[in-house]
Amino acid sequence: MRLLIKGGRVIDPGNAVDEILDILVEDGIIAELKRVSDAEEKGTKVIDAKGKTVVPGLVDIHVHLREPGYEEKETIETGCLAAAAGGITTVACMANTLPINDNASVTRFILERAKAVGTIDVLPVGAVSKGLRGEELGECGPMKEAGVVAFCDDGNPIMDSGLMRRALECSRTWGLPILSHCEDLSLSKGGVMNEGDLSRELGLKGVPHAAEEVMVARDIILADMTKGKLHICHVSTAGSVELIRRAKSTGIPVTAETAPHYFTLTEEAVREHGTNAKINPPLRTVLDQKAIKEGLRDGTIDAIATDHAPHEGASKEVDFFRASSGIIGLETALPLTLRLVDEGVLSMDGAIARLSTNPSKILGLNKGTLSKGSRADITIFDPKRGFVVEKAAFRSKARNTPFDGWELKGVVELTIAGGRIVYQGKDSIG
Ligand SMILES: [Zn+2]
Ligand SMILES: [Zn+2]
Repeated sequence: MRLLIKGGRVIDPGNAVDEILDILVEDGIIAELKRVSDAEEKGTKVIDAKGKTVVPGLVDIHVHLREPGYEEKETIETGCLAAAAGGITTVACMANTLPINDNASVTRFILERAKAVGTIDVLPVGAVSKGLRGEELGECGPMKEAGVVAFCDDGNPIMDSGLMRRALECSRTWGLPILSHCEDLSLSKGGVMNEGDLSRELGLKGVPHAAEEVMVARDIILADMTKGKLHICHVSTAGSVELIRRAKSTGIPVTAETAPHYFTLTEEAVREHGTNAKINPPLRTVLDQKAIKEGLRDGTIDAIATDHAPHEGASKEVDFFRASSGIIGLETALPLTLRLVDEGVLSMDGAIARLSTNPSKILGLNKGTLSKGSRADITIFDPKRGFVVEKAAFRSKARNTPFDGWELKGVVELTIAGGRIVYQGKDSIG
């Protein structure tokens, strides 16, 4: 099976490529990047990518696929289809399923289901602690053997600093990063939105910035002490950005991600979108939003991940206090990030680095690249084509998004995973 992607603007941040090229894919592998030519290619499917942008398949290192256990919210199959529609060819899925992915048999189940679905690459993240209880380390060795790519107690913060220290020490032996959901529960308890004037006006209990920053600071100190591999999840505050910037400048091993909602929305979204703006950590202020953009621009924040958190209607159509936290993001991450390119915050190359090359590096994957010989994970999109977000048309099972009806630019036309076309947009090339 040969595919020739002709005449697109090829952007490969890892190899400093940004030019009009043809890409030849053979047996699921990138066989060649070459100057555009009109030579006939017998037995080759030709994809006309003129006017389109061709990039390494996007790598989303923070996704909740909900299977096993919460199939009413999402399944591995619907999550993979949603990712493919968003131009994402690899997802790392969090451990807060039922049963929890804190042992090798759940890890193997997820990998087998993903293989049976056969769309994109699903890389399980194992729980740091048994039962996500934050008390004792889980079966990390066997889970690593089974194929997890990182450890994380996401959904629950690790409150016990001693446990976090041991996890970071072990991360060196395992060679896998610890992804940290930074939240001090003694500060965030009962909070449902950002703490400030707006939470007081709306009469909702707030979560202060400090709930995140105290833990970011602690984890940085522990990373310095242990030289473990620390990655900070979903950065939401200006203070966290500054702590990570300072840590990096002194050589402490830390990486960080933020999610599109933190640079696109502020706490004001709670007024308009109600529970579809209830997220943990919460949407913050204009100043935080500005700092996150600056953190993305100067490289303090390495990656953009969605924290795709699907919920069924019943979990969101209740009062703000009882509603589940989180929004879906797989099908809107690329166009929301392209707004930063339009605003001049990121170059196109920088945007793709944060959506593909850098997240791949954080997990030590051989992905996020168009190098000859690498797996043919390729996303083709039209950065100028506009569209209206229609949640009813999402591939995801869930509809909990505040972006319904938004006019965005950047339509995914074709997603190729392992040399196979796994998504083809309406009225698009291919
Ligand atoms: Zn989290
Ligand atoms: Zn999460």
